[in-house]
Amino acid sequence: MKKIIIVGGGAAGLFLACLLANNSNYQCTILEKNERVGKKLLVTGNGKCNLSNETINENCYNHKEIFSLIQQFNVQQTIAYFSSLGLLIKKDEQGRYYPASESSNTVLDILRSYIEQSHIPCICNCKIEKIEKKSNQFFLTDQSHKVYSCDVVVLACGGKSYYASCNSYDLVHQLKLKTTDLFPSLVGLKTKENLVSIENLRCKARVSLFQNEQEIYTDQGEILFKKNGLSGIVTFQMCSYYNRLKNKNHCTLMVDLLPEYTPDDLMHWFINQKRPFKHLLDGVLLKMLAQYVYKQLKTESIDELIYFIKHLPFHIESSFDFTNAQVTSGGVVLDEMNLNTMESKKIKGLYIIGELLDVDGICGGYNLQFAWSSAAICAKHLEERMVDNDKK
Ligand SMILES: Cc1cc2nc3c(=O)[nH]c(=O)nc-3n(C[C@H](O)[C@H](O)[C@H](O)COP(=O)(O)OP(=O)(O)OC[C@H]3O[C@@H](n4cnc5c(N)ncnc54)[C@H](O)[C@@H]3O)c2cc1C
Repeated sequence: MKKIIIVGGGAAGLFLACLLANNSNYQCTILEKNERVGKKLLVTGNGKCNLSNETINENCYNHKEIFSLIQQFNVQQTIAYFSSLGLLIKKDEQGRYYPASESSNTVLDILRSYIEQSHIPCICNCKIEKIEKKSNQFFLTDQSHKVYSCDVVVLACGGKSYYASCNSYDLVHQLKLKTTDLFPSLVGLKTKENLVSIENLRCKARVSLFQNEQEIYTDQGEILFKKNGLSGIVTFQMCSYYNRLKNKNHCTLMVDLLPEYTPDDLMHWFINQKRPFKHLLDGVLLKMLAQYVYKQLKTESIDELIYFIKHLPFHIESSFDFTNAQVTSGGVVLDEMNLNTMESKKIKGLYIIGELLDVDGICGGYNLQFAWSSAAICAKHLEERMVDNDKK
């Protein structure tokens, strides 16, 4: 029987343990640094856990090839597997899957209970700080210098999002694997403008990300103004596309505050108003937002007023930090990995799954789907490897 250690009891690690539970060729152990497993899973989807999405395509991830990886264990297989564990799942009108309970606790409970029933040990408060391979064995050392040995290691220890102080990247560097630069993603964007006057206002808008004159991405939804930036789901999506840019200079969010109205509609509305220019936005926009728009104008011109309602510019300084980010953009370089097995090309017996890899998706269940799919590909390969060994 081969010993497998899964470092990290998060989405990917727990899912992998479930998939390997009935395999008598392997003895699995999960090592988790926190006092309990699945802490991040609990905060997903505002506590509701948006666990996948029916509408998935190659643009949902930072690398197009991730879509074919997902197809190796796709959304339907994921839903079917969770259902087989006993999780009742529902889909909203945008194709997002949630547990019917609308509580991420239910997802964690179902994974944990299957792991418990399968007698897979979860050792908590165990932070792995050192990893090395000597001949065919891996040796993992925790914060109390306790050493765990095994034949196969799966690093499922996530990234810097939510856990800004994570040491997952130190572990992969100890094994001489390369990582990319890291950026916080699915998080708000800091702007050069001071937005104190409109702080905490929310509005529905169309937002477009521009670099110089080129439009990179556009989407519609709720934005939330912070004192030094923009937040809300539509901004999180922008952040994902912003992070994909190699050079992040000269990026602007152009906000259309009234996407349902054309400039002609607005011109017609304003010229029929018998009100002084400075009161034209009364009854049109939130008061503080209207004042912010007026401040942009150089002249008392309705054309200019309409221009800024439809193109309110916010110059991006950077994204907000990792503590608020939902996902890490960047990670272990994909060239290091065999994406059909999730095994390292250089180090046999070392597997990496989930957020630790250089994979990030847009908002909507795509990041958890990557955690599930990468875990399932790894499990399948480990099973096939045992069958091959038996044949030899
Ligand atoms: C607020 C928030 C909301 C989100 N909402 C959604 C959503 O609705 N849908 C979606 O698809 N995605 C969402 N995400 C993203 C999603 O949570 C991640 O993509 C997913 O959790 C990644 O899974 P993982 O197993 O790779 O990493 P994690 O879930 O982060 O798990 C890694 C585990 O490894 C442990 N660990 C780390 N280092 C060590 C070590 N050295 N030794 C031992 N253990 C270690 C950690 O404590 C952790 O338990 C959200 C993220 C956040 C922060």
